[in-house]
Amino acid sequence: MKILIVIAHPEPKSFNAAMYQQAIETLEENGHEVKTSDLYRMNFNPVSDRENFTTVKNTAYFSQQAEEHFASENNGFTNDILAEQDKVLWCDLMIWQFPLWWFSVPALLKGWVDKVFAMGKFYDNGQMYETGLLKGKKALLSITTGGPEKNYVTEKYGSINQILHPIQTGILEFVGFSVLPAEINFSIERITEEERKEILERWSNRLKNIFTEPAITAYK
Ligand code: FAD
Repeated sequence: MKILIVIAHPEPKSFNAAMYQQAIETLEENGHEVKTSDLYRMNFNPVSDRENFTTVKNTAYFSQQAEEHFASENNGFTNDILAEQDKVLWCDLMIWQFPLWWFSVPALLKGWVDKVFAMGKFYDNGQMYETGLLKGKKALLSITTGGPEKNYVTEKYGSINQILHPIQTGILEFVGFSVLPAEINFSIERITEEERKEILERWSNRLKNIFTEPAITAYK
């Protein structure tokens, strides 16, 4: 199968990077084809504006979705965006590896979504959720947190499912992905080295059978 792994972490020796490297190694060893987007190492520009496009629909007023639609019909995305869109369109499974930052994805990953998940290409009027243009593909979030698991059942924090709702449903399911249960590893800096090694091993074992896992309905 074809897998795209997107990582958003500034430090190449981080635990997130170790999870990313483990995923590449395990998936390739198991005969899968892997492509990657290491957003910090690529120096991906997250700013979304007119520079996303080589085409212009309206010179007087910039509407991003209108320009995306026009660019989708007229091959008008810049090469960096096109390359990322092609990787997403190519894969059967997309994995995002990131640390939870402010109850969300790091801004670089959000900027990648803002630019790459374009109207006319990944979704359209009346083509979203069950009819999203990426229907048939699977997505899996692999996240680390600073806070311990016990915080994520309190009213103050909210449940981890509430926190992931904008990502799993608002982004991934919106464009048609089926979502697999998120890989969440809490309090990663405060556990022992041994426990972190066990997480990497469990992750590897999970990935060996990842295509047999049923998707969840993330918003339920
Ligand atoms: P690292 O610090 O890179 O790694 C943890 C430890 O693992 C280190 O000791 C490292 O040496 C070790 N390690 C690396 N590789 C291996 C290996 N192969 N085997 C064993 N050990 C290894 N947390 C929340 O809970 N909620 C938030 O909303 C939140 N917001 C944040 C916002 C910002 C801007 C920032 C900077 C942090 C925030 N955090 C939050 C904390 C953040 O989620 C954690 O710092 C992050 O998840 C830790 O992951 P890491 O990969 O950076 O860990």
